[in-house]
Amino acid sequence: MTTILREKSPDLELLEVVMPRLDASSPYFKELKERYLIESAGYEGEQSIYYYINQIQSDFFHLHGLYFQAHRSKCQIDHLLIFPHCILILETKHYKGELRYESQTGVFEQKVGNRSVRRRDPIAQAEMQRHKLTTLIESSPYPLPPIQPLVVLTHDEAIPTIEGNEPNMIISQRLLQRIDEVLMTYAETHNQKDYLENLAQFIVSHHENRQSQLLNDYPSILAHIKSGVLCTGCGDVFMERTYSTWVCQTCHHRDRSAHIPALRACRLIFGDNVTCQLVAKFLAIPPHTARRLLKRTAKQIGEKRGTSYILM
Ligand SMILES: [Zn+2]
Repeated sequence: MTTILREKSPDLELLEVVMPRLDASSPYFKELKERYLIESAGYEGEQSIYYYINQIQSDFFHLHGLYFQAHRSKCQIDHLLIFPHCILILETKHYKGELRYESQTGVFEQKVGNRSVRRRDPIAQAEMQRHKLTTLIESSPYPLPPIQPLVVLTHDEAIPTIEGNEPNMIISQRLLQRIDEVLMTYAETHNQKDYLENLAQFIVSHHENRQSQLLNDYPSILAHIKSGVLCTGCGDVFMERTYSTWVCQTCHHRDRSAHIPALRACRLIFGDNVTCQLVAKFLAIPPHTARRLLKRTAKQIGEKRGTSYILM
């Protein structure tokens, strides 16, 4: 059974709405574009592993996008597989090109063309997740099962070389085989039948929704974000509102609900509590139109001058 706690990272969700509104000449464009590409590659890697997870035969709980706090430190786990005998942590890395990992030192290098980049040690990262998950489960009434972290290299064009012995760094195609091996190792661990479900529920109850810190890192981005309702057809230009609908002057696409994704973008950028003035400015529409749209799509709180809206 799969429980999706979070599909995309908060940074990716935010960048997806910010990038189309950021002018290429903005001083942050290059840096944010790079961050966006890294985030979307990570997302692609996390998604690609579903193909293999769906082929696992045994009973297990699958938690995707887990984020929790243990002992004042935070922990994010891409995929957590809870089996009756053990727990598997899958840390995905979507890097292409020649990858070299030194198991002794933890040096992890990616080479694309002539460029060589040193990446964070993913085994150490996954071990850290094991440590934090252990702390979390130890605070529960349930016995601690063995926890096995695996680093999965998900990119089809990854050519890994592992120096030394590191059976827990594998390419996606080896995932099922490695899972079988791990399950065999712990086959003798016995847990109660309802233990699996209770433990999964305990872990889920500690999941927190994370907020993107991107706007804290770049507070002046806001001044560079273009306002308007992006065309839901071509996605390239802003639409105009005519006779209660939105029309794109470039591709002639018409959409009565084009303001819905724009309001979602507004929520991701400014938070869910907004004023009519802010929405009018962000959607580039008169305040009375903004008020009408908000009355239909958001929850009003307060009255008169103190009115604000909770965007859904
Ligand atoms: Zn268009």
